[in-house]
Amino acid sequence: MKDTFKHKGMRNQLADIVAAKGISDKKVLEAIRSIPRHLFMDSSFEDHAYQDKAFPIAAGQTISQPYTVAFQSELLQVSPGDKILEIGTGSGYQTAVLILLGARVFSIERQLELFKRTSLFLPKLGYRAKKLIFGDGYKGMPEEAPFDKIIVTAGAPMVPKALLAQLKVGGRLVIPVGDQVQVMTLYERVSEKEFKKTEFGEFRFVPLLEDKN
Ligand code: SAH
Repeated sequence: MKDTFKHKGMRNQLADIVAAKGISDKKVLEAIRSIPRHLFMDSSFEDHAYQDKAFPIAAGQTISQPYTVAFQSELLQVSPGDKILEIGTGSGYQTAVLILLGARVFSIERQLELFKRTSLFLPKLGYRAKKLIFGDGYKGMPEEAPFDKIIVTAGAPMVPKALLAQLKVGGRLVIPVGDQVQVMTLYERVSEKEFKKTEFGEFRFVPLLEDKN
């Protein structure tokens, strides 16, 4: 697992590209400058790791485009110490961003291969999530709820009720909603019963899949 000056230089350029596309949160950009994205991908993609693109990972899934990761991270407005639930651990790249922003991260992945691989890989790089589980994100993580923030990194046909229920009052849920194309959607829990919904641009994600059982 090598991280060289060349990689660091490419990361700085990537952060500049993401900033030019409209991301202004300094801490998010700093995370992009510091996380060795090439190590989260298959070595055959190493030369492409610092392009602002999604790439295939195991189990037919993808590592999200850095701009998308930055967009969702900025929208979450992470404060140090926030308790955050992530649905779709995948490669763990987004998880690492949240950890660097100071969050306590709880993450769920439904592909066993990715769950196993990422659970071993993240601590090797020094990124310590509070809890990584193999399971169905539609159900959230009721045993750890409520959360300050919830982020879904797969395209959801609709907003899972369990996730809204597991959000603190004052909390934020960032979720791409739609089938072929997804609209980035923010739900703010204004009170026990009220949510404020705000829609942002269109993005493309692999689908949030229902439990196989
Ligand atoms: N944040 C990840 C994104 C991976 S793609 C990264 O950048 O690497 C989305 C991930 O969501 C995939 O790994 C997929 O297996 C996972 N996923 C899809 N449906 C899910 C579900 N119901 N529960 C948990 N994870 C799910």
